[in-house]
Amino acid sequence: DNIILEIDHSMEELKELAYTAGATTVAMVVQNKEKVDNTFYVGKGKLEELRIIIQNSKANLVICNDELSSIQLKVMETYLGVKIIDRTSLILDIFARHAKTKEGKLQVELAQLRYRLPRLLGLGKVLSRTGGGIGTRGPGEKKLETDRRAIYKEINILENRIKSMKKIREQQKSKRKKNQVPIISLVGYTNAGKSTLFNLLTDSTVLSENKLFATLDATTRKFKDSDQEILLSDTVGFIDKLPHDLVKAFESTLEGVVESDLLLHVIDSSNENFLKQIQLVDEVLRSLKADHKKVMYIFNKVDKKCENFEEKYSTIRGIKAMISAKYEIGISELLGLIQKQIYGERLVKQISIPYEDMSI
Ligand code: GDP
Repeated sequence: DNIILEIDHSMEELKELAYTAGATTVAMVVQNKEKVDNTFYVGKGKLEELRIIIQNSKANLVICNDELSSIQLKVMETYLGVKIIDRTSLILDIFARHAKTKEGKLQVELAQLRYRLPRLLGLGKVLSRTGGGIGTRGPGEKKLETDRRAIYKEINILENRIKSMKKIREQQKSKRKKNQVPIISLVGYTNAGKSTLFNLLTDSTVLSENKLFATLDATTRKFKDSDQEILLSDTVGFIDKLPHDLVKAFESTLEGVVESDLLLHVIDSSNENFLKQIQLVDEVLRSLKADHKKVMYIFNKVDKKCENFEEKYSTIRGIKAMISAKYEIGISELLGLIQKQIYGERLVKQISIPYEDMSI
């Protein structure tokens, strides 16, 4: 029924996320239980099943498709003898590697610290009751307190840095408005190739003659009052069922999307679920109220299109481009299309201004 389908989909996605993070999945285990076990997360029998799978496959990591408490994490780790992580820390790991701008990186760091904080608490007692093996004892209360304070301090510093970056961003925003510098945002499901394309388009050696793009990184880029300049911003955070904390954490990176003149929706043509991924990204855009923006669908990784690609591709309506960011295929055509979108519209705007003036 529906619930099972949902679990299937969610587990499939977890597998793909794990792959993105560099792990190979050897087994997927689903627990059919109404309630999550507060201590063990899964039931005892399931835990034993997992232990045997781990023993046979020599797996060295278990990823749980939930957010786990510190107790559940530690108890499972002790029982299974391998590293346990949950969905949130897996996603944080992926974001940490994919965040490109300074602000994005700081936001991931902040989210990681916030995630760690409640997981520092009170481990020692619980573990000693389970008979804890070597290296499983939690730190003493004093050590915990010091750790906690250090994290709070670090969080505070990060928050302040992000705040001042936001201020700079606001200032730049009004400057950009004045100078009419167009902004383009890359959106797209994780692993679609946004960063690769971002790097390619902002790499001055590749595009030295046609340096259209500057990055939106608040601290490093310089403003050039030129009509040929377009700002390109990178976004993190497009993933199905993004844990609630993380939605909040990445809100401001996604804010840029709303201010954009054009969205480049990057799609992984090699993934047979790319239509579903397009849908998910569109949902995020809707929730940001950015679904009315002008969008270009960029089908990336055309060097390894999935099966039945053409059939699926033809169901997408709108402006489309086929490229390979990695192998630099179709890039000049893409730039042409982007220019047409941006400057074509601008010319129309410029012409319409005197007309309006005359009509007053
Ligand atoms: P992001 O999560 O959307 O920023 O994706 P990345 O830019 O990090 O790319 C994810 C993976 O896809 C990386 O391993 C890239 O090397 C790979 N990739 C990007 N573009 C292409 C492409 O055109 N063809 C192929 N085969 N791989 C690509």
